[in-house]
Amino acid sequence: MLISLIVPCYNEEEALPFLYNALCDVRKEVTSHKFEFIFVNDGSRDKTSDVIKGFAKEDSDVKYIIFSRNFGKEAAMYAGLKKSKGDLVAIMDADMQDPPSLIPSMIKSIENGEADIVASRRVSREGEPKIRSFFARLFYKIINRMVEVEIADGARDFRLMTRQVTDAIIELEERQRFSKGIFAWVGFRTKWIEFVNTERVAGETKWNFFSLFKYAIDGIVSFTTAPLRFATYFGFCTAAAGFIYLVYYFIRAIILRIYNDVPGYPSLLCFILFIGGLILMALGILGEYIGRTFIEVKNRPLYIKAEESSEE
Ligand code: UDP
Ligand code: MG
Repeated sequence: MLISLIVPCYNEEEALPFLYNALCDVRKEVTSHKFEFIFVNDGSRDKTSDVIKGFAKEDSDVKYIIFSRNFGKEAAMYAGLKKSKGDLVAIMDADMQDPPSLIPSMIKSIENGEADIVASRRVSREGEPKIRSFFARLFYKIINRMVEVEIADGARDFRLMTRQVTDAIIELEERQRFSKGIFAWVGFRTKWIEFVNTERVAGETKWNFFSLFKYAIDGIVSFTTAPLRFATYFGFCTAAAGFIYLVYYFIRAIILRIYNDVPGYPSLLCFILFIGGLILMALGILGEYIGRTFIEVKNRPLYIKAEESSEE
C-alpha cells in the first residue's frame, strides 16, 4: 500500500528539516507500506524551494509542486491531493503542529476498518491569544447554526483518509475552498483523535486576527446562503412594524378620535417603514435567486457514494 503525505509550505525553510526527519522516522516505523511525501511550496519568499529540492535529490519518495506565487493553503492542499497517488492520503502542516508521530496509529485505525477518515482536533487552545480563542469559538457556534453539516470546533486540517474520500474531495471543484467545511460535507466515517496544541518548531504563523476573520467570513459565505435571508426577515419585520403602526394610528384617529400634534407625521412614518420593508423584502427575494445560482455554480456532486452493490 502507498501512503501519501501532503505538506503545504509557505516560508517554512526553518521548520522543514525537522518535519522531514520526523517523516523519515514514520517511514522507518511503518515498514509494511511505501510512502510518498508531497511538498507543495505555496510561493514562499524564502529558501523553501531549495530545501524541498534538496530532499528530493536524496530521496526518491519526495515529490514536490512549486507554485508561481502564493495561492493560499487551500490551493496548496488541493494541488497536493490531486498529485497524490496513495491508497491512504494525509495532509499535515509543515511546522510540526500536527505531530507526525500520530500517523502510524492513524494508519492502523483505517486498516482495521474503524473509519474512512482519521481526523484530528485540538482539545485546548493553549498558546493562543484569549481573544482569538473566543472569536474562534464564536465562529464555530455561528457557522454550525447555519450550515447543514457539523463543522467540529478545533478540528485541524491534519487528517488521514482513504483514496475514496480523497477522490470525493477532489470532485468538489469549487474555487472558494473552505476545507473544514468540505471535509465535513463529503461525509464518511470519521474517527477523531485529540491532541494538545503545541507551538510550531520554527518560523511564524501565517495568520493574524484579520486574516482569520476573513477566513471565517469566507467559510460562512462559501458554505451557506443563510445571510442572504437576513434581508427578507428584516424587511418583513420592518414592513410588519409599519403596518401595525398604521393600524394603531388609524384606530386612534378614527375610533378614539385622538389626533397627533404634528399632522401628517404618523402616516409618513408608517409609509416609510412599510415601503422600506417591502424594498428589503424584494432584495431578499433577489438574494434567494442569487443564492440558488451560487449553489448551482459550485457544481458539487448531488451525493457521494460510500458503497454500492456490484452489477451482475
Ligand atoms: N500555508 C500555506 N500557504 C499560506 C499559508 C500557510 O501553504 O498561504 C501553510 C504553512 O506553511 C503551514 C500550514 O499552511 O504548513 C499552516 O500554517 P500556519 O502554521 O501558519 O497556521 P496555524 O498552524 O498557525 O494555524
Ligand atoms: Mg501552524
